[in-house]
Amino acid sequence: MIYNKVALIGLGLIASSIFWSAKRGALAGQVTGYARSAATRDTARRIGLCDTICDTAAEAVADADLVILCVPVGAMGAVAAEIAPHLKPGAVISDVGSVKKAVIEAVQPHIPDGVHFIPAHPLAGTEHSGPKSGFAELFDNRWCLLVPVEGSDAAKVAELRAFWEGLGSNVEEMDAEHHDLVLAVTSHTPHLIAYTMVGVADDLRRVTDSEVIKYSAAGFRDFTRIAASDPTMWRDVFMTNKDATLEILGRFTEELFALQRAIRTGDGDLLFDYFTRTRAIRRGIIDAGQDTDAPDFGRVAGRK
Ligand code: NAP
Repeated sequence: MIYNKVALIGLGLIASSIFWSAKRGALAGQVTGYARSAATRDTARRIGLCDTICDTAAEAVADADLVILCVPVGAMGAVAAEIAPHLKPGAVISDVGSVKKAVIEAVQPHIPDGVHFIPAHPLAGTEHSGPKSGFAELFDNRWCLLVPVEGSDAAKVAELRAFWEGLGSNVEEMDAEHHDLVLAVTSHTPHLIAYTMVGVADDLRRVTDSEVIKYSAAGFRDFTRIAASDPTMWRDVFMTNKDATLEILGRFTEELFALQRAIRTGDGDLLFDYFTRTRAIRRGIIDAGQDTDAPDFGRVAGRK
């Protein structure tokens, strides 16, 4: 056991996966949970999510050694303000937000003296959301990035690292700015491109009488899975990781124009060389154990 009491604020995919995984690893003596809507709290109680579901955030965090904010990035500041007066001295408050600079700016001003704020981001997810979508294996062999802020207590960071390792993750530390840039390349911009491609196909559907859906092949199908991700979460990601995503989108647009030109001018060599280079990146991801070589992009249905 690493913590006596852990409180999860927000009870969606990530929080429910943390609970099932913490239970699997016996990492916490007790886990409390809170979500803003009575419907989510009822569902959580019905499926046995958390040891206790509280009707207020204050009740959930009382006496907790670790509090994890599992709400959309845009809601982190308000939630931190709500729970701040109820945190016990010496407690660690962490989060799982997909953007780090904006979360730190929003949360840090509310952290009382004697409470340790250690932001984190597990690089694991699916396109599903809500309290019923979590599962214990979500973080297995996935990265979790810890983003300690200035003056973070080394012993508390080490404890949080051990907790995430107990959840199955490989843990690394990174600064917030670098985190946001890396994620803009590996996650945020690819999601935007998927949303765009599915939007284009949806427009075309109107002129091709559902053929896009009917004859949907692997490439498009894979985009639709990503583009089914939670609209609130992804709106907040782009509202808060503006600089890095705009930087990567700028580069993306330049490359796209270069490929467009190669197609127009019939430059097959350029296309072949480009696709050969990108194929090697896929090989690298498989070799690093972050995906498998199985068909259908190595995914068990519904997981990414
Ligand atoms: P989710 O399944 O949609 O659950 C979100 C939870 O936050 C729900 O319990 C919801 O409460 C609550 N919530 C929503 N808006 C709120 C608000 N304005 N104020 C207070 N609570 C609010 O989300 P998730 O996928 O677990 O994501 C949670 C966090 O993890 C996000 O910050 C996201 O960026 C990050 N993350 C997500 C993934 C992923 O792939 N999904 C991966 C890594 C990190 P109700 O149910 O009562 O509405």
